[in-house]
Amino acid sequence: MNIHEHQAKEILKEFGAPVSKGIVIFSINEISKKISNLKSGEFVLKAQIHAGGRGKAGGVKLIKNISDLEKEAKLMMGKILVTHQTGPEGKKVKRLYIEEASDIAKEFYLSCLIDRESSKIAFISSTEGGMDIEKVASETPNKIITNKIDLRNEGLNSEEIEKIISIFKLNEKQKIIASKLIKSLYDIIIKKDASLIEINPLIITKSDELICLDAKMNFDDNAIFRRPEILELRDLNEEDPAEIEASKHDLAYIKLNGSIGCMVNGAGLAMATMDIIKLYGREPANFLDVGGGATKEKVAAAFKLILSDKNVKGILINIFGGIMRCDVLAQGVLDAAKEINLSVPLVVRLAGTNFKEGKEILDKSNIKILSAFDLNDAAKKIIEAIQ
Ligand code: ADP
Ligand code: MG
Repeated sequence: MNIHEHQAKEILKEFGAPVSKGIVIFSINEISKKISNLKSGEFVLKAQIHAGGRGKAGGVKLIKNISDLEKEAKLMMGKILVTHQTGPEGKKVKRLYIEEASDIAKEFYLSCLIDRESSKIAFISSTEGGMDIEKVASETPNKIITNKIDLRNEGLNSEEIEKIISIFKLNEKQKIIASKLIKSLYDIIIKKDASLIEINPLIITKSDELICLDAKMNFDDNAIFRRPEILELRDLNEEDPAEIEASKHDLAYIKLNGSIGCMVNGAGLAMATMDIIKLYGREPANFLDVGGGATKEKVAAAFKLILSDKNVKGILINIFGGIMRCDVLAQGVLDAAKEINLSVPLVVRLAGTNFKEGKEILDKSNIKILSAFDLNDAAKKIIEAIQ
């Protein structure tokens, strides 16, 4: 789960990290009530959307004069912001953050994340702040350092911290603040089940202060149940409506950009199904894992989700019956297909428990369903059917 910059900064503040003073507004008339909380002469107006790259897209504006603030806020509120992270459809700005402006001397990059490959907590630091870190990594890898903290040892010690911040070449006073910041990030990862914290940029001001000027935080969905205070920060406006609907039915659904809808049981099989579609030169429209016990209701919900995507030209169902019996599933598919008046070609491949009975049910039905005998056959048939 992602949260907004202003929420992430609240958490940073709570853990003792240096952030600027700011106010969040949901409507323009809140400005006059809240602006007296900020003491600077200049402000930065920041669109709050779950995507980075706002600066280059007009979502971060320096306001030199308080009289311009309302005018600029009116222009930004409600705007569809398209950044390199939003996709071409962009995201609608529904809240703004107004922050005291800082006089930037240097911009750094600092992030902290769970590195699943090594089962460690990784800190990534770079002198190239405010830029796309992937670009820095590919073009100037010597300007990035990664340090991994092993949780089985004593955790984060001062030697590790020294290594993480060494690339910034800080003075003694800044080092003390930076060390505290590293500890704060580590604590947020552990105590709030964050999976990623990215400060880009972390800055040094002209008066030598260290400040987290931007903040992105991501939390582990599987741990949210024990962090109700984090779940409260969820903004459904920022999430794909189809994915919200899927979570209601306990379906793991992720929309993609292709034309072949997939309904599969098991994440591994779902990925293999997507792979084979690509192998035959087409693109899957989604990832969808219906899980273990796919009832008629669940299958119907899955159909509706897949078909809510207008790019879908055909559906491939690939089910391996283990505990779930193929005949039960086949009946569920038939009932659901009738109920929703399925109008696109459907290919079904069944394997495992009672697959013969399942195939018979599908073959006998008066709904046009193509059955496939293996995964290759299934991929070929659905591609042929949509051509
Ligand atoms: P994004 O990463 O979405 O583009 P940032 O918050 O990183 O948004 O802002 C982009 C740039 O705007 C920063 O790299 C920084 O140069 C500038 N900026 C952001 N906040 C402030 C601030 N409070 N004071 C001065 N400059 C800022
Ligand atoms: Mg940024």
